[in-house]
Amino acid sequence: MFKEFIFNTINDSIDFDYASYIASMYDITLELKAEKSAEEIIAETFEDDGLEDNTKRPPIVTVMGHVDHGKTSLLDAIRNTRVTSGEAGGITQHIGAYTVQINGESITFIDTPGHAAFTSMRARGAKITDVAIIVVAADDGVMPQTIEAINHAKAADVSIIVAMNKMDKSDINPDRVKQQLAEHGLLVEEWGGDIILVPVSAKTGMGINNLLEAVLLVTEIKELKANPKKRAMGSVLEAKLDKGRGPVATVLVLNGTLSVGDNVIAGFATGKIRAMFDDKGKRVKQAGPSTPVEVLGFSEVPQAGDFVHAADEKLVKKAAEERKDKVKIESAKQSTSMNLNDLFGKISEGNLKNLNLIIKTDVLGSLEALRSSLEKISNDEVKVSSIHGGVGAINETDIMLARASNAIVIGFNVRADSNAKVVAEKEGVDIRLYNVIYDAVDDVTKAMKGMLAPKYRETIVGSIEVREVFKISGVGAVAGAYVTSGKAVRNGKVRVYRNDVCVYDGNILALKRFKDDVKEVASGYECGVSVENYNDIKVGDIFEIYQMEEIEQ
Ligand code: GDP
Repeated sequence: MFKEFIFNTINDSIDFDYASYIASMYDITLELKAEKSAEEIIAETFEDDGLEDNTKRPPIVTVMGHVDHGKTSLLDAIRNTRVTSGEAGGITQHIGAYTVQINGESITFIDTPGHAAFTSMRARGAKITDVAIIVVAADDGVMPQTIEAINHAKAADVSIIVAMNKMDKSDINPDRVKQQLAEHGLLVEEWGGDIILVPVSAKTGMGINNLLEAVLLVTEIKELKANPKKRAMGSVLEAKLDKGRGPVATVLVLNGTLSVGDNVIAGFATGKIRAMFDDKGKRVKQAGPSTPVEVLGFSEVPQAGDFVHAADEKLVKKAAEERKDKVKIESAKQSTSMNLNDLFGKISEGNLKNLNLIIKTDVLGSLEALRSSLEKISNDEVKVSSIHGGVGAINETDIMLARASNAIVIGFNVRADSNAKVVAEKEGVDIRLYNVIYDAVDDVTKAMKGMLAPKYRETIVGSIEVREVFKISGVGAVAGAYVTSGKAVRNGKVRVYRNDVCVYDGNILALKRFKDDVKEVASGYECGVSVENYNDIKVGDIFEIYQMEEIEQ
């Protein structure tokens, strides 16, 4: 090294390039074996290591549907009829999930009904559901949130079973329900499709067993397997800080077996499991695949949707450090969410084959029109598909679905509600609002070709009132005006309002204070203004001065 003018002492480190350079002089080839990160080592433990130890695991089911169609009642009914009697009165605790037995097999239900919870978990990467039961009240039929639930389930690619609820009522119309489901792409078996529809009543308990048998039927072909001999990995369903017990998390074990004494990591939270309780509140020492357990021992409260991994204490600690470092680096980077502005880049890199859209409109007619025109833009490289559409304002669940499915949200004659805006900002979801179908189609087409014009934001800078009009030969009309609010700026644009109606929209040609050209005039001062290509100025006109700023991407 000295001969090569690399001056180091025996305690210095040198990098790999230098080392291999020096080694090559002695005809030695160096090979770099990078140290594995703790995260990688943990991930490797959970890779599928052959099937010999894999055994059948219970299916995991989520219940979704329109409000008041009976999701909660159904979950209660299932829990009450199927809980093994004799166990502490058979009463289950609410821990976010529970397991029931039927025909000697188990089924695990996630006890937080609704597609919003389902999709926000999915947005965080937790794909834990095998089957979605869509509850439709037989008297009410398919409603907007039923459609949302169907689309959320389809986007997650889970098996769908329909529970037609409230069959005990007299004013029901089952055929209409089937018809409506068919209209939304769910053709029931009876009509030649492959969707199982089970008539039930959460009130009387009718059909509950059939529903559970249907779950076993659709999951049998899926051959759900897990290896109870491995260390556990699972997902946090719920978590809270309990005054007496500290952080408490409901963990659904997805693979392996979780045991008291295990060192675990979930997100940034680590810990050693102190105690576990099952869905009946009974203390347990171990929990196998598809079992929900309440876990004590986390050092801080993990987040719902976080993955849980059990590993050696050292690895757990190191992985937690690595995660914190990674977040620091990533928060410095831009969000990776889908955005119309960088669509072309993603397409040309070959990273994008599907452009997912969520479309919200004011009326059903425009939804259909917009959907079909947008889907037609598909070309050989990219398929444009609308994964969800609905009537009404863009809401938070639309944004969560967009985040989970990497979609862009398109609003037509509707706005995004304030929650949606906040969440979209945070999650980096692109919302585009239009009131002309052509503009929406044009934007998406251009974005796919990489020709989208930059986005502009309008800022109103001031308002002035015309007090006098001077006709000056060779120049045209000049307004003698008074700045009533904000300021007047020379490089601004102007909208001329007469009796609250906008009669002209253009550019400011000149701005003067007395005889001098000026850049701006503040509120409370008089000025002279002329408008480019517009001489029809009248006393009493209000000029709204605004500027268009390009939004930095
Ligand atoms: P969720 O909003 O979907 O969770 O619906 P709930 O479970 O809260 O049920 C809404 C209403 O429908 C409640 O008043 C229930 O008592 C009623 N309900 C639920 N299932 C049935 C049923 O099978 N038959 C009848 N008659 N009423 C039901």
